[in-house]
Amino acid sequence: HAKRFGPDRVEAFKPVMRTMGGDRLALESDLRRALEREEIKLVFQPIMRLDNKRIAGFEALVRWDHPRHGRLNPQEFLSIAEESGMIVEIGLFVMDRAARQLGAWQRAMGVHLPIFASVNVSSRQLLRHDLINDIRAVLDRNEVVPGTLKLEVTESLVMENPEYAAQVLERVRELGAGLALDDFGTGYSSLSYLQRFPFDTIKVDRSFVRHNGSGTRPVILRSIVALAHDLGMEVVAEGAETDEDAIELYALGCEYAQGFLFGEPMSAEECRHLLARQSAMMRH
Ligand code: C2E
Ligand code: MG
Ligand code: MG
Ligand code: MG
Repeated sequence: HAKRFGPDRVEAFKPVMRTMGGDRLALESDLRRALEREEIKLVFQPIMRLDNKRIAGFEALVRWDHPRHGRLNPQEFLSIAEESGMIVEIGLFVMDRAARQLGAWQRAMGVHLPIFASVNVSSRQLLRHDLINDIRAVLDRNEVVPGTLKLEVTESLVMENPEYAAQVLERVRELGAGLALDDFGTGYSSLSYLQRFPFDTIKVDRSFVRHNGSGTRPVILRSIVALAHDLGMEVVAEGAETDEDAIELYALGCEYAQGFLFGEPMSAEECRHLLARQSAMMRH
């Protein structure tokens, strides 16, 4: 069924995007009121363990239900949020809601083999804001199994200021949050840099995951997986869309995969159903 969503699905811009030049200011002032109007929503996409085909966790992804433009994807408003500084408040909201949801799921399922939730962190939050305080507040307010709230940080973000990023990320780990390096392979970090950051997980960008029949991608993927494992990190493959992808990723040693094959980003309610169905299956 993955075929229904073409590979260009997330890149397809809505009309609002094309007219963004003129609408940008209007969108910015709308965004200022979006949080209090409860228009900012979270969706969650499952991340599967490939060996037992069970849900290991979810990535929280932000959406904006705009009163006139409908549901907007992150690429349609995150740059405005980032440039205006509103990303700090939105980011804290995302972290808090994701942690609250995670705590609820963990309590409902029992904490044996707890699932995790990961949230994306932007440059502004990590490099020009007291992220540590935010995480501490979120972990104080929401009871989750230690280590199961994870932050996703892109390679290009940490490379903006590697020394400072490394310091902040060390403190994030000390607070008991997990750390994933997002979109790996799309930035320019030298591989030797990797060992200076306390990541526990590498998320390989879907451009290395998607099977294009040329035969070169598995070679690159195999090296990334080997490197990650040598550094004691686990690997999530992003953008798994077909059964063939999943079989190949498992054969290459990826622990986890995420993609339309296993589920699109969905509401917390849909996640709960998915988890309930899965535990019912385990009992039979
Ligand atoms: P990301 O962190 O790499 O998230 C994965 C993106 O790939 C999501 O797009 C997801 O819907 C999409 N995706 C998942 N599986 C597949 C697949 O099989 N095929 C294809 N073609 N795409 C797939 P989304 O939700 O539009 O998010 C785009 C980006 O926006 C994210 O990329 C992340 O960098 C950023 N983002 C999302 N939520 C937040 C947030 O709360 N805060 C910040 N700072 N950034 C966010
Ligand atoms: Mg991510
Ligand atoms: Mg990613
Ligand atoms: Mg990606």
